[in-house]
Amino acid sequence: MPELPEIEALASFLRDRAVGRAITRIDVGSFSAVKTFDPPLQSLFGAEVTGAGRFGKFLDLDVDGLHLITHLSRAGWLHWRDSLPPAPPKPGRGPIAVRVHLSPEFPQGPTSGFDLTEAGTQKRLAVYLVRDPQEVPGIARLGPDALSLSADQLAELLVTARQQIKGALTEQTLIAGIGNAYSDEILHTAKLSPFKIAAKLTEDELARLHAAMIAVLTDAVQRSVGQKAATLKGEKRSGMQVHARTGLPCPVCGDTVREVSFHDKSFQYCPTCQTDGRELADRRLSKLIK
Ligand SMILES: [Zn+2]
Repeated sequence: MPELPEIEALASFLRDRAVGRAITRIDVGSFSAVKTFDPPLQSLFGAEVTGAGRFGKFLDLDVDGLHLITHLSRAGWLHWRDSLPPAPPKPGRGPIAVRVHLSPEFPQGPTSGFDLTEAGTQKRLAVYLVRDPQEVPGIARLGPDALSLSADQLAELLVTARQQIKGALTEQTLIAGIGNAYSDEILHTAKLSPFKIAAKLTEDELARLHAAMIAVLTDAVQRSVGQKAATLKGEKRSGMQVHARTGLPCPVCGDTVREVSFHDKSFQYCPTCQTDGRELADRRLSKLIK
């Protein structure tokens, strides 16, 4: 799932390529992905893209005061197309949820634009067209953005959090922007067990957690921004120390990265760096992931 750094990079990419151009057409390949009906998507036709930004893991395209907002969910992505075919994608078939056509970058240039796609059978990608981003329920519920938090603010948020720190970091209503991958990386950098209860972290542990959160996310944003949409996923993976690296050596201490899995979710950690060498049992995850 794309998280704060990838969404930031996609917004930056759209600021470069889409801002200043008009939306000429929108094809809907998956009607269930479009969550709003007023204003209709047609109200974007002819309007100019004036900005692109991010709310937590939501991508926001500002189209002259209207906001086309996307939550890519687990398997969604944005694909830039230098040239779009005239025929619309067939609804209900293939991965394209929504295709946005933009006016040519130069006179007589090709129609370029982007596809919002979703792989797999679980269709959870969501697109909203709203006058105010706060009309999107998931945005209205967001906690403060992870990159905006001071150490004191983070400590204040966690003091009442009775859940395990892995769950707290990924709870969007508490802290916006972090998902499974970057929470693994942040906890590894902070040398914290994912199962520690958030409210019980010591002052020293909170300071390490805050420093790691800012460092990991800032580094990932710096590596991601400037990448093309197509190369972002590879960049994300190459920067990981423990996430999705089960069985590989920890780059810090050389211990073998372990995995905890539960239903269709899994996460990774290094025992030497994070849990005093102890292996974590899978069943304890039932308390962690609802
Ligand atoms: Zn290690």
